Amino acid sequence: MSLDQSRRAEVVIDLHAIRYNVRLLAGRAADSGAATMAVVKADGYGHGALPVARAALDGGATWLGTCSLAEALDLRAAGITAPMLSWLDTPDVDFAPGIEQGVDISVSSLAELGRVATAASRVGRAARVHLKLDTGLARNGCHQADWPALVKAAAAEPYLDVVAIWSHLACADEPGHHSIDAQADRFHAGYALARDVGLNPLRHLANSAATLTRPDLHFDLVRPGIAIYGLNPVPQQEDLRPAMTFRSTVVLVKRIEAGESVSYGHTWTASRDTNVALVPAGYGDGVPRTLSNRMGVWLDGRRCPVVGRVCMDQIVVDCGDDVPELGAEVILFGTGTDGGPTAREWADTAGTIDYEIVTGMYRPRVVRTYL
Ligand code: PLP
Repeated sequence: MSLDQSRRAEVVIDLHAIRYNVRLLAGRAADSGAATMAVVKADGYGHGALPVARAALDGGATWLGTCSLAEALDLRAAGITAPMLSWLDTPDVDFAPGIEQGVDISVSSLAELGRVATAASRVGRAARVHLKLDTGLARNGCHQADWPALVKAAAAEPYLDVVAIWSHLACADEPGHHSIDAQADRFHAGYALARDVGLNPLRHLANSAATLTRPDLHFDLVRPGIAIYGLNPVPQQEDLRPAMTFRSTVVLVKRIEAGESVSYGHTWTASRDTNVALVPAGYGDGVPRTLSNRMGVWLDGRRCPVVGRVCMDQIVVDCGDDVPELGAEVILFGTGTDGGPTAREWADTAGTIDYEIVTGMYRPRVVRTYL
């Protein structure tokens, strides 16, 4: 164990929670006759792509989704044989290893179609592709004006097997947002054009939010990401279990007097004599510096405020009259079931989203433990 493998800052991932969440989501999808693709990009949103992929497949997902081909190939190399889709790479990527390994590839343009077909002819095997239509996110995906040419070219290309057409929603986390139905209408029209040229592909559109709120948009396959990690993207209450807990330990306790200031810049000054505890986790471990003086940790069954600036390697918490034991557990965020802080709370305070908080927890010096 290297020094940084000590448990100064530790992320604990509850794979039971992942299995539970996937069972719930896959159950909703199955009710509409859809299969489930667990999205495990960005190292499983910071939870670890491989253990999450295994847990998700145990929980009833039958597909996996990654951003890059490299992420998908890592899973193949680790022995994951489930159908897999990768959807965003640079123009110089070599698709051949993906085609050889049976990884499905997303195609958003004629140029990309050409590159995939060329790689497939080199491999001597048809590439499995999912044609992506931009229905209104204006991000990745084929512009609607170019879609007829794309589906026609795909249908004519012998080295391509068009497995699916797909798209991604812009505002699914705001149920009732007018763009959701507008995107769905464009998706239906795009599918009709694909059928017109003789294709008979699967369809997929729904992220977590749409999986939870729009069963009419489940089509053949849903693609939940954040919800499999137990974080709820929609305002309504859902029975999801957060899988990630970020914890550390008290390493030093000291008494300070009223008037003493704490940490860089002396941004906090004790208004009374108090006990402060040093916790060895800072922005180098994923604690946003913007949370300085604005968050609490869970220590000895209660919240203790972080006082003074978050540093690279440590924070200081105010314990008042209590004197915590050295080595006492400190929960920086977790499930929140006991009243402790959550990733959502961090995100709200830091002005971001919980996706960014958990994904940012993949750091070499933060130990990851799996339950
Ligand atoms: N599909 C695509 C193309 C994505 O990029 C993402 C994540 O950003 C997802 C599905 C999963 O979305 P969510 O995590 O909101 O469920």
